[in-house]
Amino acid sequence: MDKKIYVIGGGLAGAEAAYQAARLGVSVVLHEMKPNKKSPAHSLDLLGELVCSNSFKAEDLSTATGLMKEEMRRMGSLNIRIADETRIPAGGALAVDRELFAEKITKEIKENPNIEIRYEEVNSVDELPENTTVIIATGPLTSEGLLGNLSKQFGLTKLNFFDAAAPIVYRDSINMDIAFMAARYNKGTADYINCPMNKEQYLAFCEALVNAETAEVHDFDKKMLYEGCMPIESMAHRGTDTMRFGPLKPVGLDNPDGSKNYAVVQLRRDDTDGKMYNIVGFQTRLKFSEQKRVFGMIPGLENAEFARYGVMHKNTYIKSPGVLDRTYEVTESEKLGFGNRRVYFAGQITGVEGYMESANSGMVAGINAAREILGEEKLILPRTTATGALAAYVAEYKGEDFQPMGMNFGIIEETEEIAKRKFKKKDKKEHREAISEYALSVIEELWNV
Ligand SMILES: Cc1cc2nc3c(=O)[nH]c(=O)nc-3n(C[C@H](O)[C@H](O)[C@H](O)COP(=O)(O)OP(=O)(O)OC[C@H]3O[C@@H](n4cnc5c(N)ncnc54)[C@H](O)[C@@H]3O)c2cc1C
Repeated sequence: MDKKIYVIGGGLAGAEAAYQAARLGVSVVLHEMKPNKKSPAHSLDLLGELVCSNSFKAEDLSTATGLMKEEMRRMGSLNIRIADETRIPAGGALAVDRELFAEKITKEIKENPNIEIRYEEVNSVDELPENTTVIIATGPLTSEGLLGNLSKQFGLTKLNFFDAAAPIVYRDSINMDIAFMAARYNKGTADYINCPMNKEQYLAFCEALVNAETAEVHDFDKKMLYEGCMPIESMAHRGTDTMRFGPLKPVGLDNPDGSKNYAVVQLRRDDTDGKMYNIVGFQTRLKFSEQKRVFGMIPGLENAEFARYGVMHKNTYIKSPGVLDRTYEVTESEKLGFGNRRVYFAGQITGVEGYMESANSGMVAGINAAREILGEEKLILPRTTATGALAAYVAEYKGEDFQPMGMNFGIIEETEEIAKRKFKKKDKKEHREAISEYALSVIEELWNV
């Protein structure tokens, strides 16, 4: 048996998987089609590229994403370490300078003596040597050739949907005589730029959004949307107040003179230097010219210059339950046509949803692929941890309609001891912190790789 691991795809999951396997002393060949070929959402020539928001969500241990990231931190995740090194202020969230993040991930992988990078597309697993271990981490925008082969050759069910990315504007083009810096309820540092709207401005904006021209996307409305990435115009279509209860929520964002706002558009810093800001929650499929016109109606953005317009993209994942185990390995690889190769999947293509969820699955797949090669027992984390719960969801989801899942407390199992404590609704924070505390104690105990 060839002891090498072949990773396909050097995004968040693939880079993490390669790093973890290499850390355990196994040789890795990482295939990445960039910079020769890029999906419509990728633009950097680097590994570990963030295609939309630059936020890895909340850090607090009373949130499930906060717990997952802390578990990863303690397990030695590359993505989290680099995120910590490249973080930029974002209130209670872990946000990064996206270029610096990708640069540092690329450098780590390039300089790792156990990893060889091959900048080429892999169209079929058959192109890789037999009797090896393969980790497929080609993401939601897996290239057509490989996707076609995976679904045709191996009979994996593929599901498609569409995703949207928010636009980024240059800081110096924002009118700060109108916009103001503040954190909601003045909690934390004033990291966000806020564009206030009165009722009249909001209603005019809403109407313009509803009537704006969108880029051509066939059957879009029949497709599922990435949860939390719903286009702003779809939100406006749902009702006049929908945006005011979503990303344009004005509560806790009063004007500097203390007066209230009807709605507020927030912009979050996108780079270390603070030159670029993304419009929070403004994923969109509007035509570029329409983005300039309609988003220019936002007070403070009348002369905004766009560093990147919002875009829409296809998204893909496999139907993992019953096909993958809790280490993201294909259970019956020969039957599925992979021959004598051991095959793992990692990242968004498995049906996990989100940057860090993708990296998390890459971490589990990389560690276990290496452990298998080293003749060690595989490491299956319990459902009482965020990491274990995510893998269990992907491998063992029982319902009919398997859909991508972001980290949340709904999938984490609580211990009998915690359940017995019968937390009241008002003690939700304490309840969640107790779950997190227990999960982290499990990780500490198990973690000796
Ligand atoms: C438009 C869009 C917006 C998103 N926005 C967010 C967001 O704001 N927040 C969030 O948490 N998640 C978001 N997601 C979901 C998800 O977290 C990201 O897609 C994340 O990058 C997934 O990580 P990954 O490693 O699985 O895939 P990717 O990061 O996409 O990495 C896959 C890599 O594989 C390479 N590749 C593809 N095919 C081949 C091949 N055949 N051969 C060799 N290399 C190949 C690609 O070039 C790429 O580098 C978004 C997804 C999309 C599509």
